Amino acid sequence: MSVLLIFIDGLGIGTRGEHNPLSRLGAQASPLAFFADEEPELPFGGVLARTDACLGVEGRPQSASGQTTILTGVNAPALLGHHKQGFPNEQLREIIREHSIFRQLKRAGIGPNAFANAYTPRFFQSRPRWVSATTVAVEAAGLRFRELADLKANRAVYQDFTNGLVIDAGFDVERRTPEEAAGVLAAIVAEHQFTLYEYFITDRVGHAQDMDGALRVLAALAAFVRSVLATVNLRSTTVILTSDHGNVEDLSFRNHTRNPVPTLAWGARRAEVQRRVRTLADITPTITHILTRQETTHA
Ligand SMILES: [Zn+2]
Repeated sequence: MSVLLIFIDGLGIGTRGEHNPLSRLGAQASPLAFFADEEPELPFGGVLARTDACLGVEGRPQSASGQTTILTGVNAPALLGHHKQGFPNEQLREIIREHSIFRQLKRAGIGPNAFANAYTPRFFQSRPRWVSATTVAVEAAGLRFRELADLKANRAVYQDFTNGLVIDAGFDVERRTPEEAAGVLAAIVAEHQFTLYEYFITDRVGHAQDMDGALRVLAALAAFVRSVLATVNLRSTTVILTSDHGNVEDLSFRNHTRNPVPTLAWGARRAEVQRRVRTLADITPTITHILTRQETTHA
C-alpha cells in the first residue's frame, strides 16, 4: 500500500463564473473542476471531501499555518491564535520537527518515503533564512533533498513540473510535458510508501489576479494530474490532492479566500479519505491510518 500526496498552494472550491478560471476552462479543468453546491464528476473514480481551511480561527487562512497543519495533523492556527503567512516561525518549526508526517511514518517503521521535488543549487549554496514547512519536515526526518542531478536523471520533479522556471533561471535542464513529468513522479511513487509532491504557482497567479496565467497553469496542472492518475497503480496506491487555502478559484480580488479546499482522493483507500477528512488537520492522520492499518470495512 502506498500514498501519493499532491499539495497545491492556493486552490479552493469556488462558485462558477467569470472570475473562476476552473469554470472558464470547462472539460480541460478535469479533475480540478469542482464548484460549490455541485457534485463533481471526477475521472478515475475520484471522490471529493470539501475541506475546511479556516480551522476555527478568525481571518483568512494562510500558507505557513495551513501547510504546517496539513503536514502534521496539528491545528497550527488554533495553537498560534492566528493564521500565519509565508514561512513557518520557530513555534511552527518546532511542531513540524516533532510531528511531521515524515517523522510519524518513520517512527511507525513505514518507508521508504520521498519528497519528490527537486531544489536548485541556490538552496544548498546559500540556505534561505526562511524555509518552507516541507523543508523543515524533510530535514527533521533525515530525508534526502532531491537536486538538479536528480531532475536531469528523471528522479525528481521541479515545483513547476515543466521545468520552465529552472530553465529560465539558466540551468541546463530539458523541458517536460505534463505527461513526461507525471511519468517521473509515478516512477518515484512506485518505489516509496509515501511520496509528497508540491506545487505553488497557483497561489502566485492568484495573488497576481492573472486570468491568462491561471488558465494556462491550471490546464497544464490538470493534464499533469490526469496523467499521474493514468500512470500510477491505483489498486495499490491512494492518490490524495489537497490545498492549504483558496485563492486562484476567485480572481476578483488578490487575497486568499475563506472557501473550503478540495481534498480529492483516488485509488485503493479513497473512501476512507472521503470519510475522514473534514479539515486540514485530518490529512496526516488519514495518511498514517492508511499506511499503518488494513482497510476497515464500514456498513
Ligand atoms: Zn498566498
